[in-house]
Amino acid sequence: MNASPQLFSRAADGTPLYVHLPFCAAKCHYCDFFSVPAEGHDRGEMIDAILREAELYAPRAPRTLFLGGGTPSLLDAAELQRLLDGLDERTGWRASAVERTAECNPESLDAAKAQALLNLGINRLSIGFQSLDPATLQLFGRVHDVEMSFAAFRAARSVGFEALNIDLIYAVPGQALETWLADLERVLELEPEHLSAYNLTFEEETLFRRWLEEGRLQKLPEERELAFFWATRERLAAAGLEAYEISNFARSGKQCRHNVNYWHNGEYLGIGPSAVSKVGGMRRGNHKGIQGYTRRIREAAQAGAWSEEPTPRARLAETWWLGLRLAEGLSAAEARQRADCPVADDPFEALAERLLVLGLLEHSDRGGYRLSPTGLPLADHVAKQFLALSTE
Ligand code: SF4
Repeated sequence: MNASPQLFSRAADGTPLYVHLPFCAAKCHYCDFFSVPAEGHDRGEMIDAILREAELYAPRAPRTLFLGGGTPSLLDAAELQRLLDGLDERTGWRASAVERTAECNPESLDAAKAQALLNLGINRLSIGFQSLDPATLQLFGRVHDVEMSFAAFRAARSVGFEALNIDLIYAVPGQALETWLADLERVLELEPEHLSAYNLTFEEETLFRRWLEEGRLQKLPEERELAFFWATRERLAAAGLEAYEISNFARSGKQCRHNVNYWHNGEYLGIGPSAVSKVGGMRRGNHKGIQGYTRRIREAAQAGAWSEEPTPRARLAETWWLGLRLAEGLSAAEARQRADCPVADDPFEALAERLLVLGLLEHSDRGGYRLSPTGLPLADHVAKQFLALSTE
C-alpha cells in the first residue's frame, strides 16, 4: 500500500459513482463506517468539497449513483438540492443513471423529505431499520424507535418510491430466533422490494468490540448464528425475496445494481471522506476526517490517503471471492475477463475445482461456480483460500 497516493485522472464515462456523506444523528455502537455526529460541523463546507472533488474526478454519465454514509437523509431539502444539482451539472447523472439510491434513517425521513428526494431524481431508498426490538435499538445506540421506521417506509411508499430496501441486523446478543422471525413477518407486511439482513459483527474500534472484550456483550454461539442465517433465507425465499448475495435479498429485477458492480469487481469512483475508488486498475482511499478531507480538497485538489495497484493475480483472486458470493456465481473465463488477467497467470480455476470436490462450491445454474449450502456460511474461509493463493 502506498501512503502517498497517486492521483486519478477523471474516471471513465459511465463509471458508477458513490458519494459518502459522513454525518449521522449519533454514532451507532456497532458501526465502523466513517461517520460523525452532525452537530457542530459545517455541512455546507462538506457539500462544497464533495462538489469540487466531483468536478475533478467524477465520471460523466455514471451508470448508477449511490449516496451513502453516514446518513444522506440528514441533509435538509435545500442541501440535498445543492448537492444533487451540483453533481448533475458535473456528471449528468440524471440523464444517465438507471439506479439512484440514497441511504436514509427513520429519524430523518418523512414524506416531505422523501418527496424532495424523489423530485431531485433519486429513485431508490435504503432505510436503516436495523431492529424491531426497542431494547435492541437502544443497545445499538439508534436514535429512532420502531414506529418511526414504519412511518418512514410508508412515507417513502406514499410519495411513489417503487424500489425500497430495508436494512436489518440479526444474531444480536440475547436474541431468540422466534423473535427475529416475528420481526421479519412485520417487515414483510411492508412488501419491500429489497432486504439486506446482516449477521451482527463486532468490528475493530467500535464500542461493540470493546463491550465484547470486556464481557459486557456475549456473541451468540456459531450454531445459533447459523440457525438465524438459514431461517432468514427460507422465510424470505417463501416471500419471493431471492438471496442474490449472502446478505442481500430482492424481488426479481430489484437487485441493487450499484452493489452488484462491486461484487463483479467492477470499477467505481467514490468521493467524500473515507470513500474508496477503483479506477484504471488502481485502488485509492480518501482521507478519513471532516476537516482533513475538506482542507485537502481545498488546498491540494485531492484527498487521497492511500493507494495501491493490485497485481493481476491479486485482482483475479478478489474477483473470484467477490463473485462467488452471488447466487449467479461466476465462471473462470468471466473471472479472468473481469480482472483483465491472462490465462497463463490463473491458478484459481484449479482451486475452484478443489473446493468443488470439498463441497464448499457447487456449479451455478449458468455452469460456473458459486458457494454451496455448506460453503455459504464459510464465505470468509473460502475468500482466504483465494487470497492465500494470490501471494504464492
Ligand atoms: S446511522 Fe448508519 S452510518 Fe451512521 S453511525 Fe449508525 S450505522 Fe453508522
